[in-house]
Amino acid sequence: MKRGICLLLACFFACACAGCSSKTSRVEETVFAMDTVMQLQVEGENAQQALQEVKQLLLDLDQRWSNVRTDSAISRLNAGEDVLTDTEKAFLDEVQTLSNRTDGAFDPMLHSCIALWGFQSDEQCVPVQEELELALNDKQWNLGAAIKGYAGRLAVEKLKKANIDRAILNLGGNVQTYGKKENGEPWTVAIQNPAGEGTIGVVSVVGTTAVVTSGDYQRYFEEGGVRYHHILDPKTGMPARSGLSSVTVICKDGLTADVLSTALFVMGLEQAADFWRQRDDFEAVFITAEGQVYATEGAALSGCEFEVISREN
Ligand code: AMP
Ligand code: MG
Repeated sequence: MKRGICLLLACFFACACAGCSSKTSRVEETVFAMDTVMQLQVEGENAQQALQEVKQLLLDLDQRWSNVRTDSAISRLNAGEDVLTDTEKAFLDEVQTLSNRTDGAFDPMLHSCIALWGFQSDEQCVPVQEELELALNDKQWNLGAAIKGYAGRLAVEKLKKANIDRAILNLGGNVQTYGKKENGEPWTVAIQNPAGEGTIGVVSVVGTTAVVTSGDYQRYFEEGGVRYHHILDPKTGMPARSGLSSVTVICKDGLTADVLSTALFVMGLEQAADFWRQRDDFEAVFITAEGQVYATEGAALSGCEFEVISREN
């Protein structure tokens, strides 16, 4: 079962186009790719063309990296074929390096486990222990926890090349902002309440930034009264019971944000806070299973009560 991801975006389309110069246009389109609904909003001189390029990029990435498609590059790679371009090989190297950085909490080789649980299909079930152990040892690529963030990074490169003024892309819950808002205000991205409808607060970001959330409510099923969600602990192959319900990462780079949101979810609050203290390239908001909210001191969170995680332990 998948629950819709509801993120409120600061929509610069709300204002009329009166503020645009005659050459500038604001365009938007909804695209279905990577098994999710994506909303693209772009403003600038060549907005329509840039939007179409971003759309094509998303469809191409889906084509190459979908584990569901049997003819995708990743499925063929998993079948032992040598099908990757040099750029794609470099991408996988970077993903592996990021995984090492998380001490394996983000593991791009979990495909057999994910497939066993059925999280990429409509038929899910709790696997038996022996099957799970076999699947854990059968290392196969799955980039479900990273590809939307990578898409955000590549989309930014396209928007930059097209000299676009500003854009906001909601890539199925991975929000990528680009450029500065016309009125100079920060972009605002709302964080979904993991326990129900609505949102729990808003993060403000300035300029090009990725805001990526991993949550136990985004994909799950129930069996025997127990809820099983889609973020797996690579040590056990079981849904990570880390005490967290969602993690939002705010980072300049989309791929890093996507990898880290998944990894920090697996780590749990304490380990994730220590991980953040050792680095300075991201901020994060954590919501625990009990609904308590924590934010690292640089995360511009507002609209709710929360505890600040500071650099000093
Ligand atoms: P995300 O929403 O970015 O956290 O990605 C979750 C998806 O990534 C799941 O639906 C799985 O396909 C896959 N996945 C689950 N657990 C992990 C993990 N620990 N490391 C990497 N990918 C995972
Ligand atoms: Mg992720």
